[in-house]
Amino acid sequence: MNIVYLNGVFLPAQDAHISVFDRGFLFGDSVYEVIPFYQGQGFQLTHHLQRLRHSLRAVRIHSELDWADILQELVEQNGGGNLSVYLQVSRGDVGERSHSFDEAMAPTVFACCQPIRDIYSLDISEVEPIKAIVTADMRGHRCDIKSTCLQPNIMELQQARAQGAGEALQMRDGLLTEGTSSNLYVVRQNVIYTPKLGSEILGGVTRQLVLELADEHGIQLQETDLDYEQLLDADEVWISSSTRAVVPVVEVDGELIGEGTPGPLWQQMYQLFVEYHQVLMTGRKDG
Ligand code: PLP
Repeated sequence: MNIVYLNGVFLPAQDAHISVFDRGFLFGDSVYEVIPFYQGQGFQLTHHLQRLRHSLRAVRIHSELDWADILQELVEQNGGGNLSVYLQVSRGDVGERSHSFDEAMAPTVFACCQPIRDIYSLDISEVEPIKAIVTADMRGHRCDIKSTCLQPNIMELQQARAQGAGEALQMRDGLLTEGTSSNLYVVRQNVIYTPKLGSEILGGVTRQLVLELADEHGIQLQETDLDYEQLLDADEVWISSSTRAVVPVVEVDGELIGEGTPGPLWQQMYQLFVEYHQVLMTGRKDG
């Protein structure tokens, strides 16, 4: 059975209802997280919850629950295993439509999950490289907030899909920012480059792990501005996100990247992710 969590209660999805005046529904006035659980155990859970608190603070939604306990219970009620957990906190509803809000209002907290495949159990040859296109970044200017206002992201992704690509890499003021649901990396001469953190990109939990693993294993990485030419001229391009780890991009706007196959540095990073995941799963590290 598909059990969801809504405002303190675990119940079947078909029995969960929210108000038509909920501000998440009316205005996208809500924030969210997507957290993978493997074998019933959260992956990088504490980092996701830190970012959730950052998003909540930034939009002045006052909600602090025992997030980890709630999500663990949700996962158990859905049979454990490999699940992607979605958690959304909206500002709530006061029974009418009004742009302004009262900071004392009670948020709506919703969580659900769905099966995912364990990407870390794949053989490296099974990881499917993707093609990407470059699109204008149509989002607002607080992309560090994980907001449910995703209309620009989904329109850009749809454009990518229509062209047979798996992600749209966004550009703003001549610089690449990130994918519609992923962070971006460019490899040139054995150095990984990725756009700097700031309000123009989401501080990806997976991005942070890429930085840490690179540092730990002596791989050079620089956080820097990247333009279109540097992208097309790269030896390798990757994207990263929680449910996909690191994925090689072998073609951008119809141009092959490097040889048009996953590159050696991506292979090394992917392997490091697999090893990191194994250590976590055997309980020797805190996720
Ligand atoms: N950037 C955007 C816009 C995203 O939506 C996401 C994930 O959904 C990411 C980056 C990657 O973040 P994470 O690694 O925390 O999943």
